Amino acid sequence: MRSRFFSGPEPDPAGDAGHEDHPPRAGFFTDTSVCIGCKACEVACKEWNALPEDGLSLTGMSYDNTVGLGASTWRHVAFVEQPVPEGRTSLPLVEPGPGTPDPDAADGTGMRWLMSSDVCKHCTHAACLDVCPTGSLFRTEFGTVVVQEDICNGCGYCVPACPYGVIEQRPSDGRAFKCTMCYDRLGAGQEPACAKACPTESIQFGPLDELRERAALRVDQLHTAGVTEARLYGHDPDDGVGGDGAFFLLLDEPEVYGLPPEPVVTTRDLPAMWAHAGIAALSLATGAALSFALPALTRRSGRT
Ligand code: SF4
Ligand code: SF4
Ligand code: SF4
Repeated sequence: MRSRFFSGPEPDPAGDAGHEDHPPRAGFFTDTSVCIGCKACEVACKEWNALPEDGLSLTGMSYDNTVGLGASTWRHVAFVEQPVPEGRTSLPLVEPGPGTPDPDAADGTGMRWLMSSDVCKHCTHAACLDVCPTGSLFRTEFGTVVVQEDICNGCGYCVPACPYGVIEQRPSDGRAFKCTMCYDRLGAGQEPACAKACPTESIQFGPLDELRERAALRVDQLHTAGVTEARLYGHDPDDGVGGDGAFFLLLDEPEVYGLPPEPVVTTRDLPAMWAHAGIAALSLATGAALSFALPALTRRSGRT
């Protein structure tokens, strides 16, 4: 029995989906403060999941060549290269040694690099799953959201439903693809390929509750070190999607990384819409019935 249909805190998405005995909810904590932009996560994902390449040309905007998540890019490392905005901490925090450029110098080195490995958020309330008519998208016993390409009929409903723009149809056949949090590896007691490959532990995998505790400590640590703009994104069960299974530590506003600031599950208002549609249909049916019944009653009362 689902305790909440489309929005609000949901402590047990797997149980809510019918998994009675299930392991703790699994998740990702991506700490972008230690990401070095090596893209090992992207490569490991492609290799494990046998994903086709996206083209090897650079965009000309940055060292990014995949630009965003897509049907063949289930991990995407964002490169944000820009002058350090007013009021933001110059990183790294280490004291410059001999030969290290002065980050505050006015010769063009006062730049910052923000790197973040983006992925499907495995939302607590996943609109992609809500709208899928075939059951291709489903909630696993780990609380993650998986799409099965052999059941997908290519309708594309899930694509506009995702508030993060994650899931995409492959142009060659129309089927939808996204990160599965390596469901096959989890079933074998292995961690996902991207987390396994990350050399800095920017991508941390484990029980979601533990990750949330770890992330809160890391934010405190960064604040104490003077990086006051460090914040968590997607960790809050009270947010518009009930919290994400994959959440992030960011060093600036989510928009800087191309993330929506206040995502909301797009199916949140469906119950209210259905209720309004039901009332409208009932009113219409009542009006139609009366339009037939009233003349008949009038004729009968005229005869008597
Ligand atoms: S981020 Fe998008 S694709 Fe991933 S579970 Fe949430 S709604 Fe679905
Ligand atoms: S969990 Fe697996 S499928 Fe998802 S991004 Fe990481 S490697 Fe790719
Ligand atoms: S998340 Fe890890 S593997 Fe991915 S680019 Fe950053 S440091 Fe490299």
